[in-house]
Amino acid sequence: MFSMVKTPSQMHWMTGQFRERDREAVYRRTIKRRVRLESRLAIMLSAMIFGMFTLSDYFYVGLTREFYYLLTMRIVVVVSCLLLALAIGRLGCYSRRPWLHALPLWVLATGIILIVPLRPESLSTQLVAVIVAIMAFYLLIPNLLTVVAAASLYLSFGFLAAAVVFSDISVVVALRIGLLLVMANLVGFFALLRVELLQRKQFALLHEERGHNRRLLKEMAHRQSLEIQLRELAERDALTGLANRRHFMKRAQVMLHRARVEEAPFCLFMLDVDHFKTINDTWGHSQGDRVLIDIAEVCVASLRPSDLIGRFGGEEFVGVLPDTCLDDARAVAERLQRAVAALPPQDEGQTLALTVTIGIVEARPEDADLEALIKRADEALYVGKRQGRDRVVVCEESVSNCAGVLMSSPLSDPASPPPENLNSGS
Ligand code: GH3
Ligand code: MG
Ligand code: MG
Repeated sequence: MFSMVKTPSQMHWMTGQFRERDREAVYRRTIKRRVRLESRLAIMLSAMIFGMFTLSDYFYVGLTREFYYLLTMRIVVVVSCLLLALAIGRLGCYSRRPWLHALPLWVLATGIILIVPLRPESLSTQLVAVIVAIMAFYLLIPNLLTVVAAASLYLSFGFLAAAVVFSDISVVVALRIGLLLVMANLVGFFALLRVELLQRKQFALLHEERGHNRRLLKEMAHRQSLEIQLRELAERDALTGLANRRHFMKRAQVMLHRARVEEAPFCLFMLDVDHFKTINDTWGHSQGDRVLIDIAEVCVASLRPSDLIGRFGGEEFVGVLPDTCLDDARAVAERLQRAVAALPPQDEGQTLALTVTIGIVEARPEDADLEALIKRADEALYVGKRQGRDRVVVCEESVSNCAGVLMSSPLSDPASPPPENLNSGS
């Protein structure tokens, strides 16, 4: 795309057009509808006025042979102009067919010149009409300076030549007429040149402003995306993409508050990967990371969109289950436990079992402190760890500490010892 500049020096001083062809083409494209309409109206109006001068022909020559010549000529000019105005309306693209816009002016100019030999005695009246026509060419048909200037010069020279040949005027009178026509052309030319320059300057400024706006919008979109990225970074855990601790706390607090207001059930669970240190030691840290990502995905897939899950740290996850009673929360936790156990093996002939222990707590009507709820879920979780891991443990609602927890069935037989390789931690 070409660059937009503001100074008129980028435009030609003689034509008022952009020196850059591409820019001129764009400008013409933007004004083509207006030019087409204005040209058409101006030509039709001029043709009508030219036709109405039949009355003055009658006044000057009466019903003579000259009158009929004049009438015929005027009819031909008016009809040609109306047909050309019609053609401009249909296919008068100002950039591609400037000649179509020029043609009616040349037809009108020829008609005006032809009046001189037919009515040589009314030269002074005709001179006024020619000057008015020149001004009308320049002022009524803007955006076509070159076209209009050429037609006006043709009219001026033609009229002067016809006056000299047919009106028998002296050299001094011819010079005076010539001077008047030059002045009319100069005034018209510079008036239209000024209009052309101003319109193009306005166009250039408008485009420059649009360019600024486009850049500004792009910049705003870029900033918005940066803002989103920053917020993501501030709210998400980099490894799993789950809510980080801070964001989780913020959202969970709102959810707890809503549950209290609506007196709806509200459960919270803590999930800890069993013997994760051993997993890291055996499979390597990056494989450990993979396990955390898999577990995060399992959590997201197992929970409803209205639930909330976050990574609390290391291999600990915490979830909020709004509108969920304790029995349902336990079912959800057990489903999660099974889904983790069913994760595909991390290596061939995997000897390590991937299990999790989950502690659940249900908020009592008076529980407003999220930290306290998490603490109770954590205590239930550690009861589960002490009891052999790979199980869901529910913190009894009535007790403030979790000395009397209810223990769900472990995924494997509760009586059986924990997986062989994972016995070390407790
Ligand atoms: P327990 O069954 O009692 O929970 O034993 P554990 O080994 O899972 O618990 P412990 O707290 O002893 O070990 C947690 C380990 O998790 C230690 C730490 O190196 C590892 N860990 C913490 N964050 C990450 C992490 O982002 N990626 C990996 N791969 N390991 C992590
Ligand atoms: Mg652990
Ligand atoms: Mg832990």
